[in-house]
Amino acid sequence: MIWNDHYETMERDRLKQVQSRSLRELVERVYKKVPFYRRKMDEQGVKPSDINQIIDIVKLPFTTKQEMRDVYPFKLLAVDLSDIVEIHTSSGTTGKPVVDAYTLRDIDTWSEVMARTLSMGDVTRQDIVQNAYGYGLFTGGLGVHYGARRIGANVIPISGGNTKRQLMIMQDFRSNVLTCTPSYSLYLAEAALEEGIDFSKLPLRVGFFGAEPWSEGMRKEIEAKLHLKALDIFGLTEIIGPGVAQECMCQDGLHIFEDHFYPEIIDPETERLLPEGEKGELVLTTLTKEGTPVLRYRTRDITYLNYKTCRCGRTSVRMNRILGRTDDMLIIRGVNVFPSQIEEVLLQVEGVEPHYQLLIDRKGQLDSIEIQVEMIEKLFSDEIKMLEKTEKKIENALYSSLGVHSKVKLVEPKSIPRSEGKARRVIDKRQV
Ligand code: AMP
Ligand code: ZN
Repeated sequence: MIWNDHYETMERDRLKQVQSRSLRELVERVYKKVPFYRRKMDEQGVKPSDINQIIDIVKLPFTTKQEMRDVYPFKLLAVDLSDIVEIHTSSGTTGKPVVDAYTLRDIDTWSEVMARTLSMGDVTRQDIVQNAYGYGLFTGGLGVHYGARRIGANVIPISGGNTKRQLMIMQDFRSNVLTCTPSYSLYLAEAALEEGIDFSKLPLRVGFFGAEPWSEGMRKEIEAKLHLKALDIFGLTEIIGPGVAQECMCQDGLHIFEDHFYPEIIDPETERLLPEGEKGELVLTTLTKEGTPVLRYRTRDITYLNYKTCRCGRTSVRMNRILGRTDDMLIIRGVNVFPSQIEEVLLQVEGVEPHYQLLIDRKGQLDSIEIQVEMIEKLFSDEIKMLEKTEKKIENALYSSLGVHSKVKLVEPKSIPRSEGKARRVIDKRQV
């Protein structure tokens, strides 16, 4: 179901005109109102009058996460503080967070893009949305909330955590839409099993899983265990929160809401724009945001774009699921490794669960990586020899896929900490 036919199926040439106009207005606005951007544009020797078409965006300076932290809390505001109606922050655990401040119109835009998002999973006013993303400063909870409300669905603002209550509400209220992180969805499935709750008997139909990286293998696990269709939802605080891009029922890439968020893919080293289909760093510009607009934000997320019209009828560009982050990339003995690649390999091995942690350490001059992964109950009762055999099998599979030796350790079922929000997959002891 398409929420906004006009924008979501717009002819691409027409869309470019819309984007060009929004970009001109945006640049005028930030040049006048935000000294941070004016200074950066002056340094780059670019004036608002240099920006006519959307392709002129490449003349503008990039914005990094560090810069957004440096202007904490309000130096990025392009409106008076009195025009702000709501504030969220990024979930960063070190240093100052990034502030996203919304005007009333920004909240309206957020509701619109989130209504489009949920409509990609055919959510209507008939549906009951169990929203297990955290409410609070984190954008996940309220973002989904506003979208569900715009559609007229019944939203249950249960927030993250309290797993027993989640399961009770799910059964009693007959929720048929679930929104949470992919890792938490698996935790719910596991807890349900313990409580003797059969997901195949629940009306759950579709889930919107995101806020952290996950893989196709993980999708298969989730769909099988929760008996629903698992869709990938993508967003980030710096841009708006959830509602930047969403997978449709075709499950073939995430549609970006391009009339509001303009995507580019660059080579993270040279900062050069890459052509369609090439992997690189996603850069996003908020074309219509009023409160805290962002020019060419370097997300550090790695993906590629596809401009073909989707089978669902939408013409908007699709990004591939996030392949990794430039800052999550592990360099193990000179080889670039992304946690998502490891996950993909692990989930192809029989006998292991999608609960794992990567421990990185340095012994002498050499980096070492140990992968702790939970085994299924059945394997746990096997002999040591069998376990060692499985560990070796995984080590070999990882070596042939990544080209780097790692140590695999099978651990007891349920011994790796569960998360109610974003899972912590990597423990890098080199930094401690
Ligand atoms: P935050 O602003 O704290 O919600 O974090 C945003 C970051 O979470 C993004 O830049 C991505 O790295 C990650 N993220 C969000 N959604 C997804 C997704 N669907 N797949 C992979 N990573 C995601
Ligand atoms: Zn589609």
